[in-house]
Amino acid sequence: MSMDVTFLGTGAAYPSPTRGASALVLRCEGECWLFDCGEGTQTQLMKSQLKAGRITKIFITHLHGDHFFGLPGLLCTISLQSSSTGAKQPVHIYGPVGLRDFLQRTMELSHTELVFPYVVHELVPTADQCPADEQAGITHEERTGCRPGADQGRTIHLDTEEDAYLLVDEEQFVVKAFRLFHRIPSFGFSVIEKRPGKLNAQKLKDLGVPPGPAYGKLKNGISVVLENGVTISPQDVLKKPVVGRKICILGDCAGVVGDGGVELCLEADLLIHEATLDDTQMDKAKERGHSTPQMAAAFANRCQAKRLVLTHFSQRYKPVTLAKEGESDGTAELKKQAESMFEHQEVTLAEDFMVISLPIKK
Ligand SMILES: [Zn+2]
Ligand SMILES: [Zn+2]
Repeated sequence: MSMDVTFLGTGAAYPSPTRGASALVLRCEGECWLFDCGEGTQTQLMKSQLKAGRITKIFITHLHGDHFFGLPGLLCTISLQSSSTGAKQPVHIYGPVGLRDFLQRTMELSHTELVFPYVVHELVPTADQCPADEQAGITHEERTGCRPGADQGRTIHLDTEEDAYLLVDEEQFVVKAFRLFHRIPSFGFSVIEKRPGKLNAQKLKDLGVPPGPAYGKLKNGISVVLENGVTISPQDVLKKPVVGRKICILGDCAGVVGDGGVELCLEADLLIHEATLDDTQMDKAKERGHSTPQMAAAFANRCQAKRLVLTHFSQRYKPVTLAKEGESDGTAELKKQAESMFEHQEVTLAEDFMVISLPIKK
């Protein structure tokens, strides 16, 4: 199965001609999952190779405008472009408490009727995800007040045993969220591919399954009927599923809260972390609930990530490819700062429209 990540917006605070506001797409075999949807994401999508109509799930890290002000507009455009006759599957949207209310009110005030259903699943943060003076209302009922459950969406609380939120558990993927510290509660998402376990040779022999095409079918999750009429199910002969590719996307943060983040990002193939300011401004970054390259690299080290991608740069850092010759440019410095700390592998600075492929693990 092909998998890739396309960065649609890599800038902090607001969209500019050189860096869009936060958004990226994880594409798996043509299906698109959008992570954050800053203002202007729909035009960034149009400039990319991706199709907005292929978006089936949307994940919002936190409720700062540069991460979700593009959402109502994007949904309206997808609706305009969808045929009103063909039944489109619902779009599932995951984000902090308050997101359902925001979308319902926006749609009501603008008298918008989407031709497809959308379902909002809200994550309830914990108070320690932001400074004390910002905590008013973050987990409060008033934020869920607008027709709770009208769209069948779930309210998801922290699983305290795992220190995580279970969002999606499908045949091929599990998606879990973990807690981050920011000016307002923010979340990271871990997308973990499930790969079927290997065939158990001894069990196949014991059950009398002849080598050949039956092995392939069972490995692919299909039952087979033996000549003697006995049905063999995949679970009879497969070992436990193994972890496939792992992609972790963190929202704005000055650090993780609890142990869930490190656990869920352990040995990530791709760790996408914000680095709003460079290391010389670490105090300012922390005060604003943000990270620097070294802070991102320190987290990547803790979870032994294989590849670190930095994004969400202050608009002062222009993309390296756009830097004019001889121009002093702090952007390349960000990569050096992260690399001086990251003991494992590559550090990449994200730019708008950059695509990173994730090959199947051997
Ligand atoms: Zn931001
Ligand atoms: Zn933010």
